[in-house]
Amino acid sequence: MNITKTSSQPRARLQPGHLEDINRLSRTPLTEEQVYAFPVRLCDNEVDRDGERFSPKTLEQLAPLFVGKSGIFDHNWSAQGQAARLYRAEVAQEAGRVTRAGDPYRWLKGYAYMVRTPDNQSLIAEIEGGIKKEVSVACAVEKAACSICGAPRGEGCGHKPGEVYDGKLCYISLEEASDAYEFSFVAVPAQPGAGVVKGFSSPGREARHLKELVRGNAPCARELEALEGEARLGRKWLSSLRSDVVRLGGLADPQLDLAVLKAIAGKLEAEELLELKRVYETRAQKRYPLAVQLEYRQEPQRDHPAQEDGAFLV
Ligand SMILES: [Zn+2]
Repeated sequence: MNITKTSSQPRARLQPGHLEDINRLSRTPLTEEQVYAFPVRLCDNEVDRDGERFSPKTLEQLAPLFVGKSGIFDHNWSAQGQAARLYRAEVAQEAGRVTRAGDPYRWLKGYAYMVRTPDNQSLIAEIEGGIKKEVSVACAVEKAACSICGAPRGEGCGHKPGEVYDGKLCYISLEEASDAYEFSFVAVPAQPGAGVVKGFSSPGREARHLKELVRGNAPCARELEALEGEARLGRKWLSSLRSDVVRLGGLADPQLDLAVLKAIAGKLEAEELLELKRVYETRAQKRYPLAVQLEYRQEPQRDHPAQEDGAFLV
């Protein structure tokens, strides 16, 4: 177990060995001057507002899972492609601090880095200035158990998180970390002193699907339904785009094995398909200046009279 005693998060130069850790993740070797590295408090073993906490062992399990994972900033920065990456994580302890459950306070300390660019100077200044303090983590645990009797949550053991039984606080212990996804900076903490907010998934009674999550919430259910409808239309459009690419590919180059092209098109995303379609269209047009125009316009009705993506045909 790696325990590091830390009382503050000093702005320091890279510690020995850290540049090597960063370079293990980086595609091209970086120098100390090229990187900006900073520590983050990812999560801890304090019982939170939901009456849950990560057990000290879970924190230990999470540490290696977070290495290599990304840290996301608010929308403005992430839209510009700015993200940090964790190159090291370890469990830290604060001397003398005890959790509400009565054991020593521990937290998962992550070390993140970014490559310095002219574009992220002000973001780095924000981190330096302590504006981006709160982070939320997303990870998966296998078990959420009652701290009093060990029963899995939702099995109705009768113990209530927040209550005290024989002098022991009841809480839900999050155990057996199975994956860590990312961390994100929370612009405004939900509550002063709320500390780290966490998001996690666990089997059992937790909602596993959006549908379950919006049950009983009519406006959200309607929004999800609308999104699903849009997604269906999008999938139809994509499938019709794939057929177009295969057909135009055949016209552009009779040597092409259409079965192979079809398999390839099935794996491509919209942007790539559009580009490929443009290329084949141009090429096919050179071969059959008139035919392609006619083919292209007539094909949908001719081959698929009741085509399901009819809505997209102009
Ligand atoms: Zn219980």
